[in-house]
Amino acid sequence: MPFKLKLSRKWTDRYALIVLSGLLPVVLGVLIIVWQANRSLRLEATQTALEAVRQFDLMLDNAKLAADVVLPLAGQSCEQVELALRDQVTRRPFVRSVNLVWDNQIYCTSLFGNFKEQVNPVNYADGELWLMPGTLVTPNDPVLVYRQQKDKRSALISLYGFHLVNVLGLINQKTHLLIEVGDVWIDRYGLVRNSPTPHLPVAQTTVPSPEYPYRVIAGFNEGEVWRYVIMEYPGLLGLLIFLGFISATTVHQLKKRATSPSHELRRGLDAAEFIPYFQPVVRGDTKQWAGAEVLMRWQHPKEGLVRPDLFIPVAEHCGLIVPMTRSLMEQTAYLLAPHAKHMEPGFHLAFNIAAHHCHNLELVDDCRRFLQAFPPGHINLVLELTERELIVPSATTHQLFSQLHALGVMIAIDDFGTGHSSLSYLHEFNVDYLKIDQSFVAMIGADALSRHILDSIIELSAKLDLGIVAEGVETQEQSQYLADHGVDFLQGYLFARPMPSAEFIQALQAL
Ligand code: C2E
Ligand code: CA
Ligand code: CA
Repeated sequence: MPFKLKLSRKWTDRYALIVLSGLLPVVLGVLIIVWQANRSLRLEATQTALEAVRQFDLMLDNAKLAADVVLPLAGQSCEQVELALRDQVTRRPFVRSVNLVWDNQIYCTSLFGNFKEQVNPVNYADGELWLMPGTLVTPNDPVLVYRQQKDKRSALISLYGFHLVNVLGLINQKTHLLIEVGDVWIDRYGLVRNSPTPHLPVAQTTVPSPEYPYRVIAGFNEGEVWRYVIMEYPGLLGLLIFLGFISATTVHQLKKRATSPSHELRRGLDAAEFIPYFQPVVRGDTKQWAGAEVLMRWQHPKEGLVRPDLFIPVAEHCGLIVPMTRSLMEQTAYLLAPHAKHMEPGFHLAFNIAAHHCHNLELVDDCRRFLQAFPPGHINLVLELTERELIVPSATTHQLFSQLHALGVMIAIDDFGTGHSSLSYLHEFNVDYLKIDQSFVAMIGADALSRHILDSIIELSAKLDLGIVAEGVETQEQSQYLADHGVDFLQGYLFARPMPSAEFIQALQAL
């Protein structure tokens, strides 16, 4: 399409919105999914830790039961109680050994019978639990020792470390679990350490045992959230990308529509940016003002005053030319009617019309309203039909032009000589005037052949009894020639350029 307003904005400005609208649903959706994944992982960590605590408490309950049984025996000789100790080892699951202590001195064990070893209560968290890295018998296998004390008596029940390690490793393979007893801890790798517990970057949760002095820490390694998102929500991720694509395409389409020439014209029409300019038409003999052609201008908020050849073709293409012309006629009536007294009776006011106007009879009402704004019979309304775009006669056009004729509206063929209107065509549309195209006027003073064409047009119009207007008169020589050849009306820069209404009215008043 020929219409192109300058697109002054940068590429990045134009596409930023499209990219943003595509990214927005993806980013928002991913944020929500990540939030949801974090929640799920925290829940999973908590549940895993709670389950580990439940299982550790179960083991320790067994140790406590054994201690309850053997503690009252402390003080008796090892030979007397040795069997009772071993009985507890076989009876209680998870229990590795049972030891009796008198005055912080182990004196009898289920493993060796009589035995001597000092007990240091400080090793035990809350005097109750000690996570040992290993023992005399198995120096590399951790052992959890439960201690119960009453006066000088105490019982030490040791639990197999590998049961702990099994729980830590098997409850949930994905969750990193560790148990902390006092200031040492152990994880699924089975090594007791006394460094600070490691920080688990994702969903770290700590669950203390309600019964015993230890706590379980659960969490996940770095990157688990994304792994979780990809594993759990692949469909949703695909949907988000699809939504982003749809959103970007929709915005792109809307933007295209919003910046399309026809949309821009519609906006201009709503904002009353199409205004009339007036170019006087003078009499060939006296050079007095006999009328004016109304020419459309677009007072564009960014582009300034836009020439009609830049937007009229688009307006004709999309049919907006009809409401635009209506607006032009209404503005002209509003502006000029109060100054009708400065126009001589029969003053011509000419509008350009397009093929679109001939699709129905609306133009008749537009013309009637225009004429009603002026004193009756004071104005000659002329409609200019360009010869470049021939109108196909039909029942509608027939009706339209006879109703226009009945209203007293005159028809001029614009740009005459550039097309192929036949005699029957001129007759069909009740033509009153021919407007000789500027290209022929420009030939005056050139070679004899060109002048001959112009003379033929003038002769033809005389023979057909049609009025004749010459447009594009720029020189005195052209004006003289046309007047000498009996051309009724002249229009061109020699007399006046198209001008805004204020200037035109001022000139009218000065006539
Ligand atoms: P047009 O109907 O042939 O209008 C005459 C054009 O010639 C106008 O250009 C006018 O400014 C220009 N002109 C007048 N005297 C001279 C001259 O001495 N020398 C030269 N070189 N040019 C002269 P404008 O106003 O730019 O309009 C261009 C065309 O746009 C018009 O040609 C017409 O086809 C179209 N147009 C303008 N207003 C309307 C309208 O309201 N409706 C429709 N359908 N078309 C319009
Ligand atoms: Ca015209
Ligand atoms: Ca013309």
